[in-house]
Amino acid sequence: MSRVIVRFLSSSSSSSTFPLLSSLVLRSRLQTSTSLVRPLPLRRPYSLFSKFTSRGSKATTAATGNSPSTASLLAGQEHDPSKMSQQKTDQEWRTILSPEQFRVLRQKGTERAGTGEYDKHSAKGVYECAACHTPLYTSSHKFDSGCGWPAFFDAIPGAVGRHADPDGMRIEIVCNACGGHLGHVFKGEGFRHTPADERHCVNSISLKFQPGDGDA
Ligand SMILES: [Zn+2]
Repeated sequence: MSRVIVRFLSSSSSSSTFPLLSSLVLRSRLQTSTSLVRPLPLRRPYSLFSKFTSRGSKATTAATGNSPSTASLLAGQEHDPSKMSQQKTDQEWRTILSPEQFRVLRQKGTERAGTGEYDKHSAKGVYECAACHTPLYTSSHKFDSGCGWPAFFDAIPGAVGRHADPDGMRIEIVCNACGGHLGHVFKGEGFRHTPADERHCVNSISLKFQPGDGDA
Protein backbone atom coordinates (compact mmCIF):
# COMPACT_ATOMS: atom_id res chain seq x y z
CA MET A 1 0.00 0.00 0.00
CA SER A 2 2.84 2.44 0.84
CA ARG A 3 4.37 1.94 -2.62
CA VAL A 4 1.07 2.89 -4.19
CA ILE A 5 1.00 6.07 -2.12
CA VAL A 6 4.57 6.99 -3.10
CA ARG A 7 3.82 6.46 -6.77
CA PHE A 8 0.69 8.54 -6.47
CA LEU A 9 2.53 11.31 -4.69
CA SER A 10 5.40 11.45 -7.17
CA SER A 11 3.11 11.47 -10.21
CA SER A 12 0.82 14.15 -8.84
CA SER A 13 3.41 16.51 -7.36
CA SER A 14 4.70 17.54 -10.78
CA SER A 15 1.35 18.64 -12.16
CA SER A 16 -0.16 21.16 -9.76
CA THR A 17 -0.62 21.84 -6.08
CA PHE A 18 -4.20 20.59 -6.07
CA PRO A 19 -3.39 16.95 -6.85
CA LEU A 20 -0.66 17.13 -4.25
CA LEU A 21 -3.14 18.32 -1.69
CA SER A 22 -5.55 15.57 -2.71
CA SER A 23 -2.83 12.99 -2.39
CA LEU A 24 -1.99 14.16 1.09
CA VAL A 25 -5.62 13.87 2.07
CA LEU A 26 -5.76 10.43 0.50
CA ARG A 27 -2.57 9.41 2.31
CA SER A 28 -4.06 10.60 5.58
CA ARG A 29 -7.22 8.58 4.94
CA LEU A 30 -5.25 5.51 3.99
CA GLN A 31 -3.16 5.75 7.12
CA THR A 32 -6.28 6.12 9.22
CA SER A 33 -7.99 3.18 7.62
CA THR A 34 -4.81 1.13 7.90
CA SER A 35 -4.66 1.72 11.64
CA LEU A 36 -8.31 0.77 11.99
CA VAL A 37 -7.89 -2.56 10.29
CA ARG A 38 -4.53 -3.39 11.85
CA PRO A 39 -4.83 -7.00 12.95
CA LEU A 40 -4.92 -7.85 16.60
CA PRO A 41 -1.85 -9.65 17.98
CA LEU A 42 -1.68 -13.20 16.79
CA ARG A 43 -3.34 -15.58 19.19
CA ARG A 44 -2.43 -19.17 19.68
CA PRO A 45 -5.46 -21.39 19.14
CA TYR A 46 -6.66 -22.97 22.31
CA SER A 47 -6.27 -26.71 22.49
CA LEU A 48 -7.90 -28.74 25.20
CA PHE A 49 -5.73 -31.65 24.25
CA SER A 50 -2.46 -29.79 24.76
CA LYS A 51 -3.76 -28.48 28.07
CA PHE A 52 -4.50 -31.96 29.32
CA THR A 53 -1.22 -33.38 28.17
CA SER A 54 0.77 -30.53 29.69
CA ARG A 55 -0.55 -31.22 33.16
CA GLY A 56 2.18 -31.92 35.66
CA SER A 57 4.98 -31.38 33.19
CA LYS A 58 5.92 -28.06 31.68
CA ALA A 59 2.74 -26.27 32.64
CA THR A 60 4.21 -23.81 35.11
CA THR A 61 2.20 -20.84 33.94
CA ALA A 62 -1.51 -20.31 33.74
CA ALA A 63 -3.30 -21.63 30.72
CA THR A 64 -2.50 -19.55 27.66
CA GLY A 65 -5.67 -20.25 25.71
CA ASN A 66 -7.55 -17.24 24.50
CA SER A 67 -11.20 -16.52 24.33
CA PRO A 68 -12.91 -15.79 21.03
CA SER A 69 -14.09 -12.46 22.35
CA THR A 70 -12.08 -10.56 24.91
CA ALA A 71 -14.66 -7.79 24.95
CA SER A 72 -17.48 -10.14 25.91
CA LEU A 73 -15.43 -11.38 28.85
CA LEU A 74 -14.96 -7.85 30.15
CA ALA A 75 -18.43 -6.47 29.50
CA GLY A 76 -19.87 -5.05 32.69
CA GLN A 77 -17.50 -6.98 34.92
CA GLU A 78 -14.38 -4.84 34.95
CA HIS A 79 -12.60 -4.46 38.26
CA ASP A 80 -12.90 -0.96 39.74
CA PRO A 81 -10.05 -0.29 42.20
CA SER A 82 -11.89 2.75 43.57
CA LYS A 83 -14.59 0.45 44.96
CA MET A 84 -12.31 -1.89 46.86
CA SER A 85 -13.40 -2.27 50.47
CA GLN A 86 -10.19 -3.96 51.63
CA GLN A 87 -7.17 -1.87 50.80
CA LYS A 88 -3.76 -2.38 52.37
CA THR A 89 -0.19 -1.53 51.57
CA ASP A 90 2.19 -4.23 50.39
CA GLN A 91 3.86 -4.03 53.79
CA GLU A 92 0.55 -4.73 55.52
CA TRP A 93 -0.24 -7.60 53.17
CA ARG A 94 3.15 -9.17 53.91
CA THR A 95 2.24 -9.40 57.58
CA ILE A 96 -1.01 -11.22 56.73
CA LEU A 97 -0.01 -13.47 53.83
CA SER A 98 2.61 -16.19 53.53
CA PRO A 99 5.45 -15.41 51.09
CA GLU A 100 3.85 -17.71 48.48
CA GLN A 101 0.40 -16.15 48.99
CA PHE A 102 1.95 -12.71 48.60
CA ARG A 103 3.72 -13.78 45.41
CA VAL A 104 0.50 -15.04 43.82
CA LEU A 105 -2.12 -12.66 45.27
CA ARG A 106 -0.19 -9.40 45.29
CA GLN A 107 2.45 -10.01 42.62
CA LYS A 108 0.24 -11.92 40.17
CA GLY A 109 2.18 -15.13 40.39
CA THR A 110 0.98 -18.58 39.35
CA GLU A 111 1.20 -21.77 41.34
CA ARG A 112 2.50 -24.85 39.55
CA ALA A 113 -0.19 -26.86 37.74
CA GLY A 114 -1.58 -29.83 39.61
CA THR A 115 -0.10 -28.80 42.96
CA GLY A 116 -2.88 -26.66 44.43
CA GLU A 117 -4.87 -27.73 47.46
CA TYR A 118 -8.22 -27.29 45.71
CA ASP A 119 -7.46 -28.62 42.24
CA LYS A 120 -9.38 -31.85 42.85
CA HIS A 121 -11.37 -30.59 45.82
CA SER A 122 -15.11 -31.38 45.61
CA ALA A 123 -16.56 -30.81 49.09
CA LYS A 124 -19.59 -28.55 49.53
CA GLY A 125 -18.90 -25.05 50.76
CA VAL A 126 -17.69 -21.59 49.85
CA TYR A 127 -14.32 -20.50 48.49
CA GLU A 128 -13.27 -17.21 50.06
CA CYS A 129 -10.47 -14.87 49.06
CA ALA A 130 -7.44 -16.06 51.02
CA ALA A 131 -6.40 -12.47 51.63
CA CYS A 132 -9.57 -10.67 52.73
CA HIS A 133 -12.03 -13.58 53.25
CA THR A 134 -14.67 -12.24 50.88
CA PRO A 135 -16.76 -15.15 49.50
CA LEU A 136 -15.87 -15.54 45.80
CA TYR A 137 -17.12 -18.92 44.59
CA THR A 138 -19.34 -21.72 45.84
CA SER A 139 -18.73 -25.43 45.33
CA SER A 140 -21.71 -25.43 42.95
CA HIS A 141 -19.67 -23.25 40.56
CA LYS A 142 -16.75 -25.66 40.52
CA PHE A 143 -16.07 -28.24 37.83
CA ASP A 144 -13.21 -30.48 36.82
CA SER A 145 -11.58 -28.95 33.76
CA GLY A 146 -8.52 -31.15 33.91
CA CYS A 147 -6.27 -28.10 33.51
CA GLY A 148 -4.40 -28.49 36.79
CA TRP A 149 -5.96 -25.57 38.63
CA PRO A 150 -9.37 -25.21 40.32
CA ALA A 151 -11.96 -24.26 37.70
CA PHE A 152 -15.27 -22.41 38.19
CA PHE A 153 -17.82 -21.60 35.50
CA ASP A 154 -19.12 -18.59 37.41
CA ALA A 155 -18.56 -16.57 40.61
CA ILE A 156 -20.69 -15.14 43.39
CA PRO A 157 -22.31 -12.03 41.81
CA GLY A 158 -20.08 -8.95 42.07
CA ALA A 159 -17.27 -10.75 43.88
CA VAL A 160 -14.81 -11.23 41.05
CA GLY A 161 -13.60 -8.45 38.77
CA ARG A 162 -11.88 -8.65 35.41
CA HIS A 163 -9.42 -6.65 33.41
CA ALA A 164 -7.17 -7.15 30.44
CA ASP A 165 -3.93 -8.80 31.39
CA PRO A 166 -0.75 -6.86 30.58
CA ASP A 167 0.20 -9.74 28.26
CA GLY A 168 -2.51 -8.41 25.93
CA MET A 169 -3.97 -11.87 25.42
CA ARG A 170 -5.75 -12.97 28.58
CA ILE A 171 -8.31 -11.61 31.02
CA GLU A 172 -7.09 -11.49 34.61
CA ILE A 173 -9.56 -12.08 37.44
CA VAL A 174 -9.19 -10.44 40.84
CA CYS A 175 -11.03 -10.24 44.14
CA ASN A 176 -13.15 -7.10 43.83
CA ALA A 177 -12.77 -6.34 47.54
CA CYS A 178 -8.98 -6.36 47.83
CA GLY A 179 -7.70 -6.59 44.26
CA GLY A 180 -5.95 -9.88 44.99
CA HIS A 181 -4.91 -11.82 41.90
CA LEU A 182 -6.93 -15.00 41.43
CA GLY A 183 -6.00 -16.21 37.95
CA HIS A 184 -7.54 -15.80 34.50
CA VAL A 185 -10.91 -16.40 32.86
CA PHE A 186 -11.41 -18.09 29.49
CA LYS A 187 -14.50 -18.51 27.35
CA GLY A 188 -15.58 -20.72 24.50
CA GLU A 189 -13.31 -23.63 25.27
CA GLY A 190 -16.02 -26.22 24.72
CA PHE A 191 -17.06 -26.97 28.30
CA ARG A 192 -20.63 -27.43 27.12
CA HIS A 193 -21.79 -29.05 30.33
CA THR A 194 -21.28 -25.73 32.16
CA PRO A 195 -23.89 -22.96 31.88
CA ALA A 196 -21.64 -20.22 30.49
CA ASP A 197 -18.82 -22.16 28.84
CA GLU A 198 -16.47 -20.03 30.91
CA ARG A 199 -13.56 -21.22 33.01
CA HIS A 200 -12.24 -19.22 35.92
CA CYS A 201 -8.77 -20.71 36.25
CA VAL A 202 -7.90 -19.90 39.86
CA ASN A 203 -4.81 -20.47 41.95
CA SER A 204 -5.69 -22.61 44.98
CA ILE A 205 -3.46 -20.49 47.15
CA SER A 206 -5.63 -17.44 46.41
CA LEU A 207 -8.60 -19.23 47.97
CA LYS A 208 -9.65 -20.41 51.41
CA PHE A 209 -12.37 -23.05 51.55
CA GLN A 210 -15.09 -22.89 54.17
CA PRO A 211 -17.22 -26.07 54.40
CA GLY A 212 -20.99 -25.59 54.30
CA ASP A 213 -24.01 -26.22 52.14
CA GLY A 214 -22.41 -24.54 49.13
CA ASP A 215 -24.51 -21.36 49.24
CA ALA A 216 -22.89 -17.98 49.72
ZN1 LIG B 1 -9.84 -10.36 48.55
